Amino acid sequence: GALPGWDDVESLLHGAYERAAAATGGVVADYIPILAAVDPDLFGICVAEVDGGVHAVGDSSHEFSIQSISKAFTYALVCQEIGHEVVGERIGVNNTGLAFNSVVALELNDGHPMNPMVNAGAIATTALVPGVTPTAKWEFVQDGLSRFAGRRLALDVTVYESEAATNLRNRGIAQLLESYGRLDVDPLDAVDVYTKQCSLRVNTRDLAIMGATLADGGVNPVTGERVVDESICRDTLSVLAATGFYERSGEWLFEIGVPGKSGVSGGIVTIAPGKAGLATFSPRLDSAGNSVRGQRATAYLSRTLGLNVFASG
Ligand code: GLU
Repeated sequence: GALPGWDDVESLLHGAYERAAAATGGVVADYIPILAAVDPDLFGICVAEVDGGVHAVGDSSHEFSIQSISKAFTYALVCQEIGHEVVGERIGVNNTGLAFNSVVALELNDGHPMNPMVNAGAIATTALVPGVTPTAKWEFVQDGLSRFAGRRLALDVTVYESEAATNLRNRGIAQLLESYGRLDVDPLDAVDVYTKQCSLRVNTRDLAIMGATLADGGVNPVTGERVVDESICRDTLSVLAATGFYERSGEWLFEIGVPGKSGVSGGIVTIAPGKAGLATFSPRLDSAGNSVRGQRATAYLSRTLGLNVFASG
């Protein structure tokens, strides 16, 4: 296989868990009120190999809202529908160097959203999802992300309502995009679909399989279903390498060397092309919004499993 043998992966996973569990720094996100209610000690890791084997340790079946990790998969689905050129031009691929919910980045770039992993670009991407009505767009997103996971993903209504009641900033971002002529749909409708997208429930097993689907050239290694084309996986992974960890994307690539995406609920998905998808969940975040334990566990696994895409041997 592309990874070391089964037992070796199992023991490295336990090693990653033990080392990272010792890290208790960071704080749980609370700008979405319901996220503050999570048990901060939850910790799970899952690795899904492109041959369909799945390894798990800790709270790997605990469900949480996917948050920003959804952006990577909605982006892939939209690229598949409308193509590399259009998405590259309308959404962009460059890091802003600013926080994920920055409005300054929009002002500095004539309203261009810059990339699909900051909120402005993610809302603009969700606005490009096929479907005449917001309901049709939402169904497209839910179906598509479910195909990546290989099972039906459900909306966490409590998280959705908590965020929908407090997401004034995302509504502001969408209205700014509209003011610059960069949205073709109603801005509040776009934010609503985006907020639902962020509120889909997943566990680390789902995320690892979603990542493994991107690692496997677009074929879900558990269900065998083709979700997107191989070229779409390439496009998505290069965008993640540049922008997957907010303004710390360079540091992540420098330390860990594999594309991935984090979210404020504490998840991280990492994609080792041709090899595996890795997922971690631990809600305590650093100041940029990335899970402290998740970064530590992924760094250990990248090193010991030999995943760094820049290594020559
Ligand atoms: N739904 C969250 C927001 O838009 C996602 C943020 C994140 O995970 O980075 O604020």
